[in-house]
Amino acid sequence: MKMVYTNESSVLVNNAKNLLIHNGLSVSVANEHNSTGGHTLLANMELWVNRDSDYDKAMELLNTLKSSKNIKEWVCTECNEKNDASFEICWNCGSEAPRQP
Ligand SMILES: [Zn+2]
Repeated sequence: MKMVYTNESSVLVNNAKNLLIHNGLSVSVANEHNSTGGHTLLANMELWVNRDSDYDKAMELLNTLKSSKNIKEWVCTECNEKNDASFEICWNCGSEAPRQP
């Protein structure tokens, strides 16, 4: 087993767990009993893959989770086209993405 993710927020760990399970990985959660209502009392919750061979795939999936967490789909201020979060400039008119608040 290998640990792939840990966070003080049980919500985020559960999100990560669901993502991996959804992609067919077998995972375990550690320290879950320390969490009450989304707040961790003692140790951070930990997410583990049961098969070491799943480690690389898990990290890849979790990286997409992290990179998309803070950036949402955005709307161009110039032409009002919707752009995917991964675009740094508007696909339609080439304007720069507005800074996230
Ligand atoms: Zn635009």
